[in-house]
Amino acid sequence: MSEKKEAVRAAKLLIVGGGPGGRVSYITARRFGVEPAVMVMNEEPTVICSLPYGVGRRLIPDGPEATVVDLSREKRLPPDAMKDVVFGSVTSIDAAAKTATVAGPAGETKIAYENLILAPGAVPWLPPAEGILKEKGDASGPMVAVGDRLVDRSRLADGVYVLRGAADARALDELAARAQKVAVVGTGAVGLEIIEALSDRGVAVVAVEALPHAVSALDADMAAAVERRLRERGVELRLNDAVASWFPGTLTLRSGELTADAVVFASGVRPRLDLAHAMGLKIERGIVVDAAQRTSLPSVWAVGDAAQIADAASGKSVLPLIGTLAMRQAMTAVMDIAGLPAQLPPATLWGVSEIFGLHWGSVGWSEEAARRAGLNAISLSLPVRSRDPFMPSGKDAVWKVVLSAGEDEGFKPGQILGFQIVSAGDNPVHLAERFVDVVARRETVQDLFGHYFIHSPAHNAVDDPFLALIALALEKMPRR
Ligand SMILES: Cc1cc2nc3c(=O)[nH]c(=O)nc-3n(C[C@H](O)[C@H](O)[C@H](O)COP(=O)(O)OP(=O)(O)OC[C@H]3O[C@@H](n4cnc5c(N)ncnc54)[C@H](O)[C@@H]3O)c2cc1C
Repeated sequence: MSEKKEAVRAAKLLIVGGGPGGRVSYITARRFGVEPAVMVMNEEPTVICSLPYGVGRRLIPDGPEATVVDLSREKRLPPDAMKDVVFGSVTSIDAAAKTATVAGPAGETKIAYENLILAPGAVPWLPPAEGILKEKGDASGPMVAVGDRLVDRSRLADGVYVLRGAADARALDELAARAQKVAVVGTGAVGLEIIEALSDRGVAVVAVEALPHAVSALDADMAAAVERRLRERGVELRLNDAVASWFPGTLTLRSGELTADAVVFASGVRPRLDLAHAMGLKIERGIVVDAAQRTSLPSVWAVGDAAQIADAASGKSVLPLIGTLAMRQAMTAVMDIAGLPAQLPPATLWGVSEIFGLHWGSVGWSEEAARRAGLNAISLSLPVRSRDPFMPSGKDAVWKVVLSAGEDEGFKPGQILGFQIVSAGDNPVHLAERFVDVVARRETVQDLFGHYFIHSPAHNAVDDPFLALIALALEKMPRR
């Protein structure tokens, strides 16, 4: 009888997961001398955010393969990084003994660690609709959540797709080359980017959304412009709808049946919490961490999509699901491990993207989300032209700012809870970043007076939108 070989390694730092949170943890550990650092990864590392553009080719003509990260050549990683990478899945962790077991192609590896960073990320979430799963998968590799169950991704039925890793992008790329018509479920940032990618490849797209309007991060009035742009580009929108079942070639929605070569679920993600649960970590929406990313157990940190944060605007626990935040959290955790002072700066939610040339962005709370959370919010909408009226190249944008009416405990009157923009013209990333700071630092609309506006005719119009917002707020805010 042959006995399976078990390798044993020792690590000053063990990192579970090779996504952005895991990789930046590793890079930072090497930089600050927290070594040996061992990173366990169970799928090819990719620049996840760019995957839709690999499928669509608009920004990545070489296709999705170009988004795969070669760990031995990636310039942010030390050239000998591969010596610290273990391919496989961490199947169990004994937090008292500080050991982890990894099952991988090379057999089982036991890792004794001093410090542990969990960066297991999130998995695509699919509604438990009939016909979307096969009986059997190969029980290896990444997972998806179907309803509240974690299942192997290889169990997705023929014609059912998600987008989270390189393998998913390759599959979608191959689909885009042959499909006539595809349904995309979900119109958040990822759903919209998939819709654009498939349309750019000549596929007819039906977009299915459970909410009454597209893009849940925007309010209905702001989302209307996105919906218009989708329809102008031939996308059929089914709002207020839900998937009942899938049988290859036929998608049954609440509103009726449609024929489609495939269905892509971009219906959200769930944090991957199986290990955290098994270890007995404190969990609410995600793994509960403090400002240094420490979990409820000593020597265990958590970063990225699996960890929740306290939204700085409201104090409420949220799951940000933002790649660049995962990287900051990773840096914070490793600095803490290295004994350097580190705290994640106040943060909130954000998302910025572009669909068919229309830019949209959302920071903090939408008016709808604030009302759902029971907050008394008012909103200001401001049309902003990208150039002066006498410049024909100008394009229209709308800014929307959501303010606290000042009636809720802990909120200042006029506190800016959120910012939204839809713009046919300029890239709103830097503006959204500015509002991330404003929202996360609990500034009020009056505080906008302290934010200077730079005018340059080549870049914007002369009117200062910050002053215009203060004037609007004076008209709308209840006087005391
Ligand atoms: C299509 C798409 C576009 C996006 N666009 C943007 C964007 O433009 N900007 C932005 O900021 N964010 C974007 N995001 C979100 C961003 O990708 C995530 O926030 C980020 O990937 C989170 O990083 P992470 O390391 O926490 O998790 P992940 O990237 O999910 O990585 C976790 C890894 O850990 C692995 N793992 C889990 N459990 C184990 C285990 N037990 N053992 C070993 N490995 C394990 C997982 O398989 C996975 O490979 C996008 C996401 C998607 C899907």
